Amino acid sequence: MRFGFDNTYARLPARFYARVLPTKVPDPRVVRVNRGLAELLGLDPDALASPEGAQVLSGNALPDDAEALALAYAGHQFGGFSPQLGDGRAILLGEIVGRDGRRRDVQLKGAGRTPFSRGGDGRAALGPVLREYVVSEAMAALGVPTTRALAAVTTGAFVARDEMLPGAVLTRVAASHIRVGTFEFFAARDDRDALATLATYALARHYPDAAGSGNDALALVGCVVAAQAELVARWLGVGFVHGVMNTDNTAVSGETIDYGPCAFLDEYDPKKKFSSIDRGGRYAFANQPVIARWNLARLAESLLPLLADDEEAAVVAATERLDRFPALFGEAYGRVLRAKLGLTGDDPADLTLAADLLERMAANGVDYTLLFRALCDAAADATGDAAAAALFADPGAFHEWAAAWRRRLASEGATAEARAGAMRRANPALIPRNHRIEEAIEAAVRRDDYGPFETLVRALERPYDDVPGFEHLREPPTAGERVRETFCGT
Ligand code: AMP
Ligand code: MG
Repeated sequence: MRFGFDNTYARLPARFYARVLPTKVPDPRVVRVNRGLAELLGLDPDALASPEGAQVLSGNALPDDAEALALAYAGHQFGGFSPQLGDGRAILLGEIVGRDGRRRDVQLKGAGRTPFSRGGDGRAALGPVLREYVVSEAMAALGVPTTRALAAVTTGAFVARDEMLPGAVLTRVAASHIRVGTFEFFAARDDRDALATLATYALARHYPDAAGSGNDALALVGCVVAAQAELVARWLGVGFVHGVMNTDNTAVSGETIDYGPCAFLDEYDPKKKFSSIDRGGRYAFANQPVIARWNLARLAESLLPLLADDEEAAVVAATERLDRFPALFGEAYGRVLRAKLGLTGDDPADLTLAADLLERMAANGVDYTLLFRALCDAAADATGDAAAAALFADPGAFHEWAAAWRRRLASEGATAEARAGAMRRANPALIPRNHRIEEAIEAAVRRDDYGPFETLVRALERPYDDVPGFEHLREPPTAGERVRETFCGT
């Protein structure tokens, strides 16, 4: 099998990665091939879904043109620095320029030990693989920049976690796997040549329009600041909690990467965190912009020697780029919130209006997705107010707010129908609810039943439409179904 790879990362200096082969598995079987993504990449979905495809997607056979690599990186995890992390269980096969002209990495996650595995087994359990498949594909359909899932296969071997679990491999597709932590890896080694090479490479790959300024490192910091501001605003718009925003899980491409303990809000709560290991709430919902900025500071710090001729000027240049973050984030988040409320103008009072609604939602335990979707109906016709208000413990809290919202809507020209239509493209009907993800994983892992997984994946292909038959997936959890904690599960 050939993938049509064109491997630019493999042509970077040898200290950027380790050449390593995937470790063979006993009995690979395809769980799912993402046909649409395969076609975008110019790959044959039927070939991938065949037994020969299972051999390739499990790492048992390499495509002829693959150059298997484990990438070196470091990272701040929960604020503490690890100078050496790297791909401990992920192996890059190569890069494909897709039918859309975009270059993407194709990587096997869970493909066996590498020189970066430390104590780990290099493997992935089926549950986290299915979770990443569901959530990353849902994010893509929601319009949030993200890595994608090309395929999931089971290996026929078990992996030891808290218990023995079926092993699996996810084929991850990403704009690249360069992280803030990749820069930190070389900064920790005081390797300026590598930093310069990587900055120029990353800028050319992800932000070619910004190349040619004479200072690639500085241009890169500026571009990544903007991309992360946009990304986190989109997360907040759909109620996404990443859960493990370490610098090694922060892609310089601006894609969401690493779906470990991630989760979606049911009821709106800015302090919400799900991850069992995030004890202090460092990565809680509303803290994500703060952390993104902190991670960007680590990027700028790593590149400091390249930002200007002397240190003082470099610090000034870095600070100037980092200080753009609050305004860029504010602008992006303002755009997200206005779209959710059906507003197109840019009255600064809109943000107060949005904040007031969110506060009332938090105080009343209101489901984030259901409320904004109900608001679309209320925008079409005021009789829809009752359904929105019913989501509040105190319905009066909604009606009071809605009066102010309607006054604001009246100042804009759009017809009610047009506005409601636009709002339905900004407020999803369906998100991957945590309890539904758990249910799909349970069925697959415990009963070898992939039906719920398949249904969830298909439903989430059109998250902005009210597709009949998927009503049960839109409902928030009952008390018994509620997922209180998520686990890295690596
Ligand atoms: P993560 O928490 O998935 O972001 O991973 C953090 C680091 O641990 C990365 O260097 C991973 O490659 C490594 N890692 C996670 N799980 C495993 C595993 N099962 N085997 C080897 N390395 C792992
Ligand atoms: Mg990671």
